[in-house]
Order: sequence, then C-alpha cells, then structure tokens
Amino acid sequence: MDSARPAARNCFTGGEAPGKVDHVTEAVAQAPVRRCETMQVHHRLLDTVSGYAEACAAFENTTFHRRAAAREETVRIPVVVHVVWASDEQNINDAQVQSQIDVLNADFRADIADSDRVPEVWRSLVGDARVEFFLATEDPAGEPTNGVIRTNTAMTAFDTDDAVKSAATGGSDPWPADRYLNIWVCQLTGGVVGYAQFPGGPAATDGVVVTYTAFGTTGSAAAPFNGGRTTTHEVGHWLNLRHVWGDDGDGCHGSDFVDDTPNQAGPSRGCPTFPTVSCDNGPDGDMFMNFMDYTDDACMLMFTQGQVERIDAALAGPRASLSNLTVAAP
Ligand SMILES: [Zn+2]
Repeated sequence: MDSARPAARNCFTGGEAPGKVDHVTEAVAQAPVRRCETMQVHHRLLDTVSGYAEACAAFENTTFHRRAAAREETVRIPVVVHVVWASDEQNINDAQVQSQIDVLNADFRADIADSDRVPEVWRSLVGDARVEFFLATEDPAGEPTNGVIRTNTAMTAFDTDDAVKSAATGGSDPWPADRYLNIWVCQLTGGVVGYAQFPGGPAATDGVVVTYTAFGTTGSAAAPFNGGRTTTHEVGHWLNLRHVWGDDGDGCHGSDFVDDTPNQAGPSRGCPTFPTVSCDNGPDGDMFMNFMDYTDDACMLMFTQGQVERIDAALAGPRASLSNLTVAAP
C-alpha cells in the first residue's frame, strides 16, 4: 500500500540497497528463512546498467497512470527451464520441472484448492492474473524441444552475479527473452532461494533463478519451500511486482505501489496467525498469505487485484512481446 505516493516515480526509492544486512536471516538461525535477492540485483543493475533506471522509471510512471480496461484474454507464456547441475540431486527430473509449471498455472489463475484459507476479509481481493505457462515446444530455431535444457557444470554453487545465465561462466545461455521466460535452476549460495530480474534489464540476464531445493513440489524440493511458491514469487517480480512490505526494512514508509495490499512493516516468515498487526494496519493486519511476502510455501495463497493490475501493465508494456506471442500452445 502507498503511504506516500509521489507524483513521478524513480526506481531508487522503496528498495533496500545492496549490502544491507538481511535482518530476516539474522533473526532466525534455525528455521529455514525465505531469502530473495531480487532487490539487491535491482540495485546492482541501477548502478551498473546504462538506461535501466530510466526505463524502469518510465514504465513505473506508465503503470501508475494506466487506466486502460483490464485485459480479458489469457496470456500463455512459453518457458525454458535451464537445469544447471553439479550433482545428480541437482539434475532434477522432468516430472519435478512439470510440477513447478503446474503450480505457476494454479497460482497465476487463482485456482488453488485451499484458497478458502484466505481470510474472509480479503477473499474479494484475490486476483486471477490470467497468465499461464507451458514448457516451450519449439526452440529459438523452430526445432522441437521439451523446454528443458540440461547443463553439467563445474560450479558447485552460484551467486546472484548472474554467472548461471552464461555458458562462459559455467551456466546456460538464455533463449531470447522477448519470446521465452527463462528459468534457471541451480544451487544458489548463502541460503538464497531465488532472485528475479525486473522488466527493463538486459536481455542477456532476463528471467528468474531458483535454487534446486525450492523448485517444484517433488524430488529435491525440501520443506518449507516445496510448494513451488518460490518460483511464483520470483515470476511475480519478473512481471514487476514488489515485496508487499515495500522493501524498507522494518519501516512503515515503503510501498509496493499497490493499493489493496495493507501497509506492512517487514517481511513475514513461517506461517503467521491471522491477524498479525504492524504499522497500525489493524484490525486485519499484514497480508502474510500474499505470494510477494516471505511466508512458507504452504501459507502463500494469493495475488491481489491490485497486483494483477501491475501484471497487466507489465504485459501491456515491457513484457508486451510475450503477451503478443502467436505460438501454438499445447
Ligand atoms: Zn522477492
């Protein structure tokens, strides 16, 4: 929610600077804690990539001023999954990959079996993003593919420096980012479960990265991140969604640029009990079951209609090439 909505936006506000201490990781040593590095990567790109800040600000302002009618048709996005592995366990099988695609489709279509666990006060806000995903059936050259690329690497783990996205650095080169959603699955370092690149960044690094123990629902997927929600969260970023607490640490002044998510102090963790109040947002409190919080997979249940509006704007703007694809979907 916006506590203070500026007349014009830049992309330096509302984000944690790189190197900032991750208080969530610091606070809980025992339980696995969700840790997404998308904002740190965002700040690295702001500092290093010419034109990124301007592109980001331009479509943030377009998003803010957008009053077009909501898209009615469903967008179907072809996905290529790059499995970059150093051990047999990391070389996840096709069924595990498909299990992740299935979760994406349920989550982005608001088709979740236990959605009645969304508190009643927020059920009317649940948004169907009308976005579906399928493993690519044609490679960039038009040849048949199953949409899964397997690369044996000498790298035991990858940092968030995007090395996994290039064969020259032990990873796998992306397929054209204007035609495919690229997802890399590998061992990430430092307890990071995933990170994404927001729209407007370099095509050579566009897509999302997810650690192999937090991908899909079978095989190497490990609790509490074995519900496929890490990828849902990261693809949410890829479609320009911010964290619900507004990326200002534990403060109450950050914004996710969405009006129907309550103002919230910091990230949630584990599975909180409703209501959990922060930033004077009672009686209903934090929307900790939102996909863009840090809750455990089993407790993530929804995007809001306001978030869907931002997804719509991304698919009408910087991601338009993917929403206009005419490839045949299976
Ligand atoms: Zn995130």
